[in-house]
Formats: sequence, structure tokens, C-alpha cells
Amino acid sequence: MKELNYCWRCGSKLSTKKYEGRERYYCSKCEEIVYRNSVPVAGVFVVRNREVLLIKRGGQPHKGKWSYPAGYLEYDEKPETGAVRELSEETGLNAPEEKLELVATIHLEHPDKYVVGNAYTVSLDLTEGRLTPGDDALDAKFWTLDEMRENLEEVESEKIIDAAEKAINMILKSNN
Ligand SMILES: [Zn+2]
Repeated sequence: MKELNYCWRCGSKLSTKKYEGRERYYCSKCEEIVYRNSVPVAGVFVVRNREVLLIKRGGQPHKGKWSYPAGYLEYDEKPETGAVRELSEETGLNAPEEKLELVATIHLEHPDKYVVGNAYTVSLDLTEGRLTPGDDALDAKFWTLDEMRENLEEVESEKIIDAAEKAINMILKSNN
């Protein structure tokens, strides 16, 4: 994990200080603790039979790896809203927000931060539009769980596979 070097407010070099039970970054010029928080993202597992839609990441980190369509939330955006927006941008599919089901939270390590994914699922039948990879997705295709497990090195994280399995089970259950 990258260190924080400079204060985002004033640009001064940061030191550290023990506060509220752990060592934290501190700006002696601002006389304030500089908190470092995880960053929320949101995305959607679209399920078709026993498969989930993954996109090939076009941006760093993990460029070229397959992951679920997801991205950063705008500062005032609800996770469900961000999830359907990212789905639309990266795959061309539009999902009704009220049909999303929450699957899991996915905690992933990036080089400079941790991201917490709010992962939803929806059945492909409930989406509209034509599957077209877009934005920072290089490609998009449906994967079975076996395909993901057999190609672990191509998938961003095993946590994606665990959540995909939950998503598939949730959709199969709600279709019965
Ligand atoms: Zn400062």
C-alpha cells in the first residue's frame, strides 16, 4: 500500500501521530489528522442462467483482468444509482434500479487505497439494451463459475468469484 506523503489541503509534508488507537497521518501546519478512508464503489452482476457478465478492465489497477462492471460512486450518489450507471457505461445494458438485489460487499486492495464494492445482482431478462463493452471496459462476456475458477489468473480477485456464486444462487432462487 502506497504511503501518503503530502497534506491534500495545504501540500505540506505529513508526519504521523498516534490518535484514536492507531498511528495516523498528521499535518503539523493544518494541525489536523489526515484521515485515510476506504473508497466506495458499486456494481452489478448480471446473471444469465448459471453465468455472470464480467468486463475486461481497461484501466489501472488490474488492467486486462476480468471483474464485475463497477466503478466509483459520485460523492452524492446512492450505491444502486451508481451501480446501474456503471453497468450501462461499461456494458450498454440498462437495469431498473428497483430490481437490484444486494449480493455482497467486496473489499479489494488497490495500490493506493482499499475499495469497498457494493455488489448487486439482476437477471439479464430484466435488463434492456444491447451488450456493448464501453467506457473503460475492453470486453464483456458471460462466464460460468467453472470458467472463472479455471482461469483464476485472469480474474481480478477470488472474492469476485465468491460474490458471483452468491449472485447466481440468488437469481436462480428468485426465478423459482
Ligand atoms: Zn495541511
